Amino acid sequence: MSEGLVTAAYIVAAILFIFSLAGLSRHETSKQGNLFGMAGMAIALVATIFGPHTANIAWILIAMVIGGAIGIYLAQKVEMTEMPELVAMLHSFVGLAAVLVGFNSYGHFAHEFAPMNAVLSALGEQAQLAMTKQLNLTSLSTMKNIHLTEVFLGIFIGAVTFTGSIVAFGKLRGIISSNPLMLPHRHKLNLAALVVSFLLLVVFLQTDSGSVQVFTLLVMTVIALLFGWHLVASIGGADMPVVVSMLNSYSGWAAAAAGFMLSNDLLIVTGALVGSSGAILSYIMCKAMNRSFVSVIAGGFGTDGSSTGNAEEMGEYRETTAEEVAEQLKNSSSVIITPGYGLAVAQAQYPVAEITEKLRARGIKVRFGIHPVAGRLPGHMNVLLAEAKVPYDVVLEMDEINDDFPDTDTVLVIGANDTVNPAALEDPRSPIAGMPVLEVWKAQSVVVFKRSMNTGYAGVQNPLFFKDNSQMLFGDAKASVEAILRAL
Ligand code: NDP
Repeated sequence: MSEGLVTAAYIVAAILFIFSLAGLSRHETSKQGNLFGMAGMAIALVATIFGPHTANIAWILIAMVIGGAIGIYLAQKVEMTEMPELVAMLHSFVGLAAVLVGFNSYGHFAHEFAPMNAVLSALGEQAQLAMTKQLNLTSLSTMKNIHLTEVFLGIFIGAVTFTGSIVAFGKLRGIISSNPLMLPHRHKLNLAALVVSFLLLVVFLQTDSGSVQVFTLLVMTVIALLFGWHLVASIGGADMPVVVSMLNSYSGWAAAAAGFMLSNDLLIVTGALVGSSGAILSYIMCKAMNRSFVSVIAGGFGTDGSSTGNAEEMGEYRETTAEEVAEQLKNSSSVIITPGYGLAVAQAQYPVAEITEKLRARGIKVRFGIHPVAGRLPGHMNVLLAEAKVPYDVVLEMDEINDDFPDTDTVLVIGANDTVNPAALEDPRSPIAGMPVLEVWKAQSVVVFKRSMNTGYAGVQNPLFFKDNSQMLFGDAKASVEAILRAL
């Protein structure tokens, strides 16, 4: 494939990626968006593999077959509820790739560029100047510094993304506690890591000694790995949605950095698209959760760690049965369903869609209230409900539905907990304090579907369960909804 053809293919791929992002921004066009993304990636891969600068194609194809097989196996095996963990793991791969590309790129530099640089240095400034003019190049030392800075920053961003994503994976999977790690002087530690890394960059650029450069790169990599680990470990459970989208953004910047090191324009463009869309998503999530963007990306900066996560029961609660709930629904004129992570675990979206259809057929107004961080992935609930073919026009965002609860007869809280917790508004010491929630307790009656009195993801008890107008329907959400369906 000629250079010109590769460039043309890259432009087409970049345009397809932009269409893909545009498509993914709405339910109705999201499938199309995915198809655009897949087509763009296929074109990008073919153009890169068969481009004029690629050698050892056989090895690349072998690696692709192995990687592709693992990818297909994992994608088929993974449960919808495990998607965030998979995404976190994939982000860590992007970070690791940027680190490896960085070291490889430095190795090339050391072999090809450094000896030439040494010869020119030996010839003296005059000869260097004459040669640069002759070759119509910018100063060799500027070129060298730009390349080395790309390598340094690429490895730094990649290493932060790598360990940060591994901690996020652990927290989402429950291997690592979702409580924030509160090391003493943690903000000073973060600042020190950044300052030391900057000083190492200066030494890395100034020195002509290869061994000093390798040493500074290695020390910086260790610092960046620890920094990434600490940054995500210091963020509490309820702020994890922002972390997931933030790491998405970091992985984009890591890919863009790898693009600079490999002089691959498409990788730079794609990385920048992922990086900036991830940053915008993080900003939107922060606004939805009433969190400061800077405080979250700086590892919980601004929180003093004094918030309390209390999991103890707060009084008496009332239990109900599926038959009673069915009767109550029949006598309601308006119903709101607020789904959460438990709906995803139980895969209760299909019977929930059936109940919606049945109640609507009886003339009952049924709507869904979706909290922006319900589930474990941005848009998690919307995807599940769309999968079960719940009509889009009855699925409303929190801001659109929050004022309607006082005029609602029955609210079904199906597997949601933190996102309907009044402590967020009532208890300033709660870990979820300040987060806007679905104000379900303002309805006439609330039925909470869950299996036990266990807490939600943030690890705090929910006063909603103990309110006079609340009833608990214990059991797996799917089984409970199916029992109501039968009784209806
Ligand atoms: P929560 O995680 O707060 O609570 C889920 C509830 O579902 C639990 O109380 C659990 O109770 C119940 N549950 C679990 N399995 C079942 C089942 N099979 N049947 C019935 N109930 C079940 O859910 P929310 O959606 O309200 O809140 C999401 C939380 O996740 C927030 O804290 C958010 O910050 C965080 N988060 C969100 C991300 C995102 O991007 N959306 C990413 C990362 C974290 P029990 O065990 O008693 O059944």
